[in-house]
Amino acid sequence: MTDIESNVKRLLSEIPPFNPQGERVDLVAAVKTQTPEDIDRAVAAGIKMIADNHVQEFRDKYDLIHGRPQRHFIGYLQTNKIKYLLGKTDLYHSIDRYNLAKELSKRGAAAGVTSDILIEINIGGEESKSGFAPEEADRAVETISALPALRIKGLMAMLPESDDEALLRRLATRMRGIYDGLKATHPDFEHLSIGMSGDWRLCVECGSNMIRLGTAIFGQRK
Ligand SMILES: *Cc1c(COP(=O)(O)O)cnc(C)c1O
Repeated sequence: MTDIESNVKRLLSEIPPFNPQGERVDLVAAVKTQTPEDIDRAVAAGIKMIADNHVQEFRDKYDLIHGRPQRHFIGYLQTNKIKYLLGKTDLYHSIDRYNLAKELSKRGAAAGVTSDILIEINIGGEESKSGFAPEEADRAVETISALPALRIKGLMAMLPESDDEALLRRLATRMRGIYDGLKATHPDFEHLSIGMSGDWRLCVECGSNMIRLGTAIFGQRK
């Protein structure tokens, strides 16, 4: 077995099948910079969802991956690149501004494609991260749900890089609270995407049901 295969098998046995809310926890492989061969190894070992950050990489590798994993997009998306993803992306995690949502809906409507999306929340209020402010989440979801060719399936966030576990738990728990508040009136909500290689355990304990792992699967990126 390669390292990738053993990492995937170990993770699949370590990740609790359900979070404390009783929801299944989905594992998404973050594949930025990885070769199609290594992505294939991860898929063969049991990965069912892969996610790209860069449109160019998504395009270059799209036809080279075997095993039919779901394709997700988790990176910053320029509106003029939407055309390359439309109809090929099972879930957009990083809808971080009104303009992007509007354009994705407009292009989707023209092409007859309804896109599944998550609304990205800048839960740590970090300058370096995009996303709607937590206080804006309700308004963002209301406004974007009115757009025709989008289906909002939940929320996504990245926690700050920090060793302060109490802070990270507070932020992840706040995300779960925002998610639950919205889920009450949005029955389509099913994904709360938080958790990366360094913080996925605490995120799942706080109610994440979708984690995005790169380093834990593929090792340190070059
Ligand atoms: C790279 C990336 C990940 C995975 O990060 P790791 O720390 O390598 O697990 C998750 N989410 C997003 C948005 C990323 O860009």
